[in-house]
Amino acid sequence: MKVMKFGGTSVGSPERMKEVASLVTKSGEPTFIVLSAMSGTTNALVEISKYLYKKNPDDANRVINDLEEKYLSHVEELYSTEKYKTITKDFLFQEFNYIRSFTNDLFTSFEEKSIVAQGEIISTNMVTNYLLEQGFKTILLSALDFMRIDKNAEPNSTYIKEKLSSIMKANEGYQIYITQGFICRNAYGEVDNLQRGGSDYTASLVGSAIEAEEIQIWTDIDGMHNNDPRVVDKTETVRQLNFEEASELAYFGAKILHPTCIQPAKYSGIPVRLKYTMEPDAEGTIINNVLASRKIKAIAAKDNITAIKIKSSRMLGASGFMRKIFEIFESYQTPTDMIATSEVGVSITIENDAHLTDIVDELKLFGTVSIDTNMCIVCVVGDLDWRNVGYETITLETMKDIPVRMISYGGSNYNISFLIRAVDKKRALQALSDKLFC
Ligand code: ASP
Ligand code: MG
Repeated sequence: MKVMKFGGTSVGSPERMKEVASLVTKSGEPTFIVLSAMSGTTNALVEISKYLYKKNPDDANRVINDLEEKYLSHVEELYSTEKYKTITKDFLFQEFNYIRSFTNDLFTSFEEKSIVAQGEIISTNMVTNYLLEQGFKTILLSALDFMRIDKNAEPNSTYIKEKLSSIMKANEGYQIYITQGFICRNAYGEVDNLQRGGSDYTASLVGSAIEAEEIQIWTDIDGMHNNDPRVVDKTETVRQLNFEEASELAYFGAKILHPTCIQPAKYSGIPVRLKYTMEPDAEGTIINNVLASRKIKAIAAKDNITAIKIKSSRMLGASGFMRKIFEIFESYQTPTDMIATSEVGVSITIENDAHLTDIVDELKLFGTVSIDTNMCIVCVVGDLDWRNVGYETITLETMKDIPVRMISYGGSNYNISFLIRAVDKKRALQALSDKLFC
């Protein structure tokens, strides 16, 4: 069975919902679909929660009313029979009453999570009703019955697999199985979620739990590009990526897929395919365990980087120096990205500079500290195993006119990263594209 996940824009209007229905029923084969909330809804629900935290029920009610009105108008457009219009209106009536009930309550993060969960609950009910109206044998499975996170907010994959398998067994013979992305229960059984954008994660967890043949993530982008299309001319969709390559790209700014989302699929060896809703027949990008030997696949960049250099003769031959340096970053919960070391110095980059001043003050106890701001990491991804001779030369050659502040190679077999000034980013990305892909 395939898992097909559709994001907020893909179910963003009645018209889009109809397209989703035709996409998922086209093959005639049993399919498991995971849906986000309609675009804008999760934000509206978060806004309602914010007003309720601030004890401002009037503004909360205003947003609730607007949202309700929008959904009621969707009903008229989506369904053609009175029967399904009535069923869905009754459902929405209950939903919005439920959301309104929180305007009288003491408001905590528990209530917020319950409110925010309603976006996916609504979209899945609407699409289920549409598919039923169209005569497809469809069942809506509540994610709250099988998606669970543990005390560390990590998905409990053993529980998910056991629960979902038994639910699927008890409900054999349907053509379409639908569930909500994003929402789950926590270790205490309360309604919770997998963080914003978490529907991709749901799809990957579901796919691995039911041992799907493929997990498809349908979006409004035509797959992963070999460079940033907003910056560089003539980028192309990458047809295939190894899971490791996809993770490197995701970390370094290709916003299309969060790296943790694909972990469950990766461990179960289930291919993930990125598909474009506007061109359903296009292949998109497939992410699997295959590694195309000696191929550079893509380039990505990460903006707003600050580089910090600590120079100290105490570092020479000393042990424990690095640990002390990194403990400072840890104590300010500041993740580090690139590192370069010499015998008497170390350079480290960070993206989050909220605690920069404090960090620098503490680092000064270890040596001379200097900072470069407005930097950018450019990352070249592919089969870059060190035994494949010559790839560093090709990429470095391309950067010959660009001042390079740091280079990182050998951290994994899949990337070479350069730290350059933000002002040189466009030039660097274009040069790399021209050299590596044209
Ligand atoms: N609806 C949630 C969000 O907007 C989850 C998702 O769409 O993936 O973040
Ligand atoms: Mg998304």
